[in-house]
Amino acid sequence: MDNGVELPLVSGGAFDLHTHSSASDGLLKPAELVKRAHSRVSGIALTDHDSTLGWAEALSAGDTLGFPVIPGLEFTTDFGQHEVHILAYFIETDHPALASALTRVADDRLARAREMVDKLNGLGIPLAWEAVRRQAPGAYIGRPHIVRALISSRLIRQSATDDFFREYLVSGAPAYVAHEEISTQQAVALTLAAGGVPVLAHPGRMLADTDLLPLLVSWGLGGIETYYPSHGPAEITNLIGLAGQYNLVITGGSDFHGDPNGSRLGDGSVNFNAVEELALRATGNAGTRFLQGER
Ligand code: AMP
Ligand code: MN
Ligand code: MN
Ligand code: MN
Repeated sequence: MDNGVELPLVSGGAFDLHTHSSASDGLLKPAELVKRAHSRVSGIALTDHDSTLGWAEALSAGDTLGFPVIPGLEFTTDFGQHEVHILAYFIETDHPALASALTRVADDRLARAREMVDKLNGLGIPLAWEAVRRQAPGAYIGRPHIVRALISSRLIRQSATDDFFREYLVSGAPAYVAHEEISTQQAVALTLAAGGVPVLAHPGRMLADTDLLPLLVSWGLGGIETYYPSHGPAEITNLIGLAGQYNLVITGGSDFHGDPNGSRLGDGSVNFNAVEELALRATGNAGTRFLQGER
């Protein structure tokens, strides 16, 4: 029964440590995401792809609501032929090397998106660059914005999104252009240099056929995303074992993008202990500030 006593967060709670806003390829603006999350979970980490530009709005919305918002980021990185995603929590945004790496990646993404639109045009699909820009007016652009522009230009139907993606936009498909991303080792090093904690994102989609994990650990990996919508029970059990073996924080999250057909906010949530462990491992001020409840 509710007796009016507020329970301390350390007793549990549902923290979704993997979400995207319109600062990358999510559909909700950072403040809308926070507002939505407030009615569903105990706290979130905003982990936009390669961008921290949603932080200011998300953190201020969190402050207004008294709702915990953890500053994060999801790096897209190159590990040889593999694309590996590294989550970074509690980084200091004003770190010069981090800021300049993110600017470089954003500039490349813009040139790459233009190239993909040129390729689509060459394949007879008359998508206007302006239509893509309307979907991605900010600093970040990726393939989902191209697909959304195709839909808004009535060149494909919403229901054909997945097929179109597979036919034209996956690696090896005719309109695909690779990213110029930073290396996985660099992403881990930058995260540590900026005082944050690097975490391997959705290992179920990343670890196959590689001996990546021991390497990541030797570079300073701090956590492993164990709870994730597409991870089954056997996978989760395996990851819990690896977390123990390598002394990694067990994290989790939904990878929510605001898309009603995608994962739901709160799927893969973890309790406050995971958040606290991440904050304690952070060497910069962001972790301490979070634990003291001030930003
Ligand atoms: P990019 O940043 O351009 O490499 O695009 C990657 C993003 O596209 C991911 O973060 C997902 O949000 C989305 N995505 C990746 N694969 C697919 C797919 N097969 N169908 C729809 N969306 C996808
Ligand atoms: Mn995405
Ligand atoms: Mn990812
Ligand atoms: Mn993600």
